[in-house]
Amino acid sequence: MIIQLEKNISEDQIQTLKTKLKDISYKGNRVKTQFSDYVICVGKTDFDIRSIGILDGVRDIHKVSDAYKLVSKKWKVEDTQIDLGDSIQIGTGNFEIMAGPCSIESEEQIASTIAHLKENNVKIMRGGVYKPRSSPYSFRGLGIDGLKMWHEQTRAAGIKIITEVMMTEQIEEIIDYVDIFQVGARNSQNFNLLDALGKVDKPVLLKRGISGTIDELLQAAEYIFSNGNERIMLCERGIRSYESAYRNCMDINAIAMLKEKTHLPVIADPSHGIGVRQFVDKVALASIMGGADGVIVEVHSTPEKAFSDGQQTLNYQESNRLFDRMRKTFNLRESF
Ligand code: PEP
Ligand code: MN
Repeated sequence: MIIQLEKNISEDQIQTLKTKLKDISYKGNRVKTQFSDYVICVGKTDFDIRSIGILDGVRDIHKVSDAYKLVSKKWKVEDTQIDLGDSIQIGTGNFEIMAGPCSIESEEQIASTIAHLKENNVKIMRGGVYKPRSSPYSFRGLGIDGLKMWHEQTRAAGIKIITEVMMTEQIEEIIDYVDIFQVGARNSQNFNLLDALGKVDKPVLLKRGISGTIDELLQAAEYIFSNGNERIMLCERGIRSYESAYRNCMDINAIAMLKEKTHLPVIADPSHGIGVRQFVDKVALASIMGGADGVIVEVHSTPEKAFSDGQQTLNYQESNRLFDRMRKTFNLRESF
């Protein structure tokens, strides 16, 4: 159950609400976000929700039976829009593309990517400076110095940054240089990191875990929301299956289902989703038809020389074509 409180609810009114919840044996958790004030209640007693709905200081009350509550569509029918400023909005009919290399590599690479994005009117650049790698001997990113260099160039170009944060301690170090925090698949259930990202007022793109269920993804998002940050996007990036012909199995079913279960925007990552450059375009377009609000895709001037994930990275010629086709596909979907 979710109780939405009035902004100016008084201490007395809170006490009355607490007594009422105690009477019906419900446990209440107060959640204050950058936008609203809620009490999330868990309990079993059957009661008439109007008896709470009429209390002074209560704005609205909703029964939500799922394990996740605040991220559920059951209480918030209208979709959430993430406003990045400078007229960039994600969700609710705005299709956004995020593109860039898997890893930030050099000043020249950043400049070349920015020029490519600007040519294609792509306003959000992806790139990792802290890279989770399966092998400790692989390239692990340029770190904070790389991020600062990247930030300087994107600011001058009017481009936003999305980058992965791997641990709680990095949040403070990088917050001034990022526009969207990415939580990678390997950290999808790092609850300490999710708690901490709930306490900042910057958008978070939360990826699905490598073997994560839809329910686990939604509950992970609930950690962020219930700690105070409503600005969350979910990302389908493929899950591990028995198939070895490709890196991951892009679960387009999940995109369609998530759009029914949650009001949060859903972003597709076809690059990691299939992990094979030749098919990234097809998976991207299929994800859009499946309901994605945006796509995040890996691009590089020379994928063969990329420091990481070159095998699934598009060159500029390929991405020029894909950006155009993605926009057309989105418009087609919206016209249905
Ligand atoms: C990435 O975006 O480069 C990345 C490491 O993604 P994931 O966490 O989905 O593997
Ligand atoms: Mn990658």
